[in-house]
Amino acid sequence: MNGGIRCWGKISRRAGRRFLWVAWCWSVCLIAAVRGDAAADRFVEIRQFTPDIAVDLRYHGSNNFLGRPVQGYAVDRCWITLPAAKQLAKVQAELRRFGFSLKVFDAYRPQQAVDDFLRWIKEPADPRLKRRFFPSVTKPQLLADGYIAARSGHSRGSSIDLTIVVREPDGRAGEELDMGTEFDYFDPASHSEHPGLTPRQRANRLLLRTLMERHGFVHYAEEWWHFRLKDEPFPDTWFNFPTSGPPGKR
Ligand SMILES: [Zn+2]
Repeated sequence: MNGGIRCWGKISRRAGRRFLWVAWCWSVCLIAAVRGDAAADRFVEIRQFTPDIAVDLRYHGSNNFLGRPVQGYAVDRCWITLPAAKQLAKVQAELRRFGFSLKVFDAYRPQQAVDDFLRWIKEPADPRLKRRFFPSVTKPQLLADGYIAARSGHSRGSSIDLTIVVREPDGRAGEELDMGTEFDYFDPASHSEHPGLTPRQRANRLLLRTLMERHGFVHYAEEWWHFRLKDEPFPDTWFNFPTSGPPGKR
């Protein structure tokens, strides 16, 4: 009798382990499925979410350090995760009251664009673009010094490159505030606390940084234009959908 109980005990323990294994597999599949849907649901197009934020999606055109459109940017739409868009709208609300606006150069960046940067590094440098964007370093140094990396936080959807512009009376984006360098100027002069700046340039950088940090973004000290949402929703996921939009939103 006791032996029978022990036997049933063994069988039920084995069945229990099998049940737990099957349940674990199902839960992993379920989490993956929900995560896929969440990616589509949790990205928004910046101009659809906050229409008066100016966007100049630099990698969509040729006005950038590559001198040509970047892979993955065929469509002029600028995506960001919903939590980041909500915080960005708060920054814009503060600026709007004083006749200013945010101007976004880049936000979500597909992995295929980062791969395109790495291919570009291996090509000979165009002297005109080098003078404008990276006068003090060679192309290989851009990689070695961390200006360009094999993976970018932008591909996680919650990082953004931006500046502040004056809003014209008709609501259009006007002149950019003087930040001392232009966007994507790969040089120590782009470090946010570079000593060679004028007081006005320092004040402009401080204004952008103060507003962004107040609303939950973390600043990257080597690039005055770069910020990341502190509580990003996808800290371990690098996305690759093109700028036409995430699956289900194109
Ligand atoms: Zn950036």
